[in-house]
Amino acid sequence: MMKKICFLIIVFVFTACQPKQPKYIFYFIGDGMGANQVLATEMYLAAQKGYIGVDSLSFTNFPVRNFISTYSKYNAVTCSAAAGTALASGYKTKKGAIGMDSLLQTPLYSVAYNAKKAGKSVGIVTTVSIDHATPAAFYAHQPNRSMGFEIAKDAAASNFDFFAGSGFSQCKKENEPNIISLLSDSGYFVARGIEQYFQQKNIADKIVLLQCDSMSNLPYVIDRTPADLSLPQMTEAAIEYLDKNSDGFFLMIEGGLIDWACHNNDAAAVLAEVEEFSDAIAKALDFYKKHADETLIVVTADHETGGIALGTGDYCLDLNVLQYQKCSVNELTNKISALREGGVFDWDNLKRLLQDNLGFWKELPLSEEEEYRLVSLYEQTLKTMEMMKVHNLYFDNELIAQTAIDILNRKAKIGWTSYGHSAGVVPVYAIGCKADMFEQVKDNVDIPRLMFKMLNNGPKQ
Ligand SMILES: [Zn+2]
Repeated sequence: MMKKICFLIIVFVFTACQPKQPKYIFYFIGDGMGANQVLATEMYLAAQKGYIGVDSLSFTNFPVRNFISTYSKYNAVTCSAAAGTALASGYKTKKGAIGMDSLLQTPLYSVAYNAKKAGKSVGIVTTVSIDHATPAAFYAHQPNRSMGFEIAKDAAASNFDFFAGSGFSQCKKENEPNIISLLSDSGYFVARGIEQYFQQKNIADKIVLLQCDSMSNLPYVIDRTPADLSLPQMTEAAIEYLDKNSDGFFLMIEGGLIDWACHNNDAAAVLAEVEEFSDAIAKALDFYKKHADETLIVVTADHETGGIALGTGDYCLDLNVLQYQKCSVNELTNKISALREGGVFDWDNLKRLLQDNLGFWKELPLSEEEEYRLVSLYEQTLKTMEMMKVHNLYFDNELIAQTAIDILNRKAKIGWTSYGHSAGVVPVYAIGCKADMFEQVKDNVDIPRLMFKMLNNGPKQ
């Protein structure tokens, strides 16, 4: 009898001493968000308050602050598909592959599937389309990121509990059922907008929250209207929806438009996206405060985009000039196109548009050289009356718009290396249960490998 009691005491003490695994895991990924994108946002917020320094974001004072490399299997500079797969599955793969190994033969399963297997609910949230590379890497297995329709079919088959984003990039394909009806047939309620979500949140078994069925991205924060979905709003909805499960949840949240704005070398748009990403993390922090010993929040990025530089040679930054930018370079392109289409494309109207949207000639006087850059482009474009394009990854921008944004960025003393990705390190922040383990990570694959351990089962091959 005594022996039995001793044994039970040992078992009890051993179990009590076992470090607890997180019941709730938040995995935030800022697409394209290098360390300087974060720092620039903090320094801009400080500049707005009138001092040189940093005004902390919701996550930058987390107890763990580290950085990782992001290269993919065959490329020193990764794409979001390979980087997303590495962050989701713990394996490096070929450029373009979504949840597949580098030979495009074997599916690589993400930590989200293991969370599901462990009985947790799973949510996937993004500011771009649900079938875009980063979210797709958590639920889909396709040889190429361009296969949006097949990726969306994998979403329907995933049995994950909650998806949110702008919509889908390819809802239809010849001789195939529509993605929305496929989702409904798989038991998902498709909520168009937050009001429909509120009506269905207590009824639907699984839910997809989107702004519009076919929509590649939400508007940038800098262009957004109150009618548009936002990342903090979708994060709040995801937490509320997933928290019904007594076994906890795994929630991946992507700030997808940080990358798109960096591809455009559009600093003001980037800073607004990073700030909103921080606001979404603040929602997770509110949850963490109520469940501190059971919640883990990890924040990182898939790669850096644009090779952003803070400082262009002088010992200063002038980030406050960015406050005068009222829309993204894409929206500026649309506004200039509207002048052309309306038959009112002349220098006075163009000048007024740049005054109203960038503060040029009003709050921000232009040098002769800066004005010459704009006037000469205007004169060149007058000859053909056609838009001169700058081809970026996601948009073709009007050269005049891109040049005007370049002038503003130079005034802020922000430099850009390219319209593409870079191999620069990206930050990692962690707080909560087991957060200290993230002190050890050095490379993108290390993050999910730790999460697999926490979910008590290794990467599935
Ligand atoms: Zn990108």
